[in-house]
Amino acid sequence: DLPVIYTITPTYARPVQKAELTRLSQTLMHISNLHWIVIEDSPKPTPLVENLLARTNLNYTHLIAQTPSNYRRKGSPRGVEQRNAALRWLRKNKTMNDKGVVYFADDDNSYSVQVFDEMRFTKEVSVWPVGLVGGLMVEKPILDPITGKVAGWNAAWRPDRPFPIDMAGFAISLSQILKKSTAYFSYTCYGGWQESHILQQLTTKDHLEPKADNCTQILVWHTRTEAPKLSEENKLAARGIHSNV
Ligand code: UDP
Ligand code: MN
Repeated sequence: DLPVIYTITPTYARPVQKAELTRLSQTLMHISNLHWIVIEDSPKPTPLVENLLARTNLNYTHLIAQTPSNYRRKGSPRGVEQRNAALRWLRKNKTMNDKGVVYFADDDNSYSVQVFDEMRFTKEVSVWPVGLVGGLMVEKPILDPITGKVAGWNAAWRPDRPFPIDMAGFAISLSQILKKSTAYFSYTCYGGWQESHILQQLTTKDHLEPKADNCTQILVWHTRTEAPKLSEENKLAARGIHSNV
């Protein structure tokens, strides 16, 4: 049996949410043995996400975890509450008999179906390049030409990070998530340091498994969606007219 890919996606309500989740869900529908864990940043499950999930043919788990109000301000790390809720769910519901890999897939990135093939047989933690992040076209591990292991990174933004790598650039075996049962994301480190924070609890640099043709292929991009201009919509709303979407 193929190991299951537990794909963890935090999401929150905004005008582009349905478009983002439609795009991501239809990518995920191409992947076999995948379990989508969607965590809404909301006090209760919303019909939008509920209906969208029900219309996919995916195995999924729908959770809620609202970001505390004091961490909702600009500059706070995003997705902490939601990813931690998914980690708690995995530790509560899965055992060492379940074979799988855990991937943090934000709702706005762009994913090649190939990246899922690369991560599936991760033993501990696997890594690969991520496009359009850290002020670069690609942020990627640099491999030692002799050993083929990760020697360092090409990161330009805060290269002093212990693991200067984006959330989309690594996957963790389910067994490692279960073994290191106290590893969580934290509000005490800012955006860009979350990856280092969780990876330091789970692995060391010399254990990393380079994927995507020795980290030469870009199979995922840290794209960000522009907020649409809705000035006309807002005028209608002021007159009590609300578009049914
Ligand atoms: N997110 C969330 N609540 C928020 C902001 C973001 O749940 O208040 C989710 C978002 O949907 C995404 C992830 O957290 O899946 C990372 O957020 P974002 O893509 O905005 O971060 P960035 O692109 O800046 O890394
Ligand atoms: Mn994003």
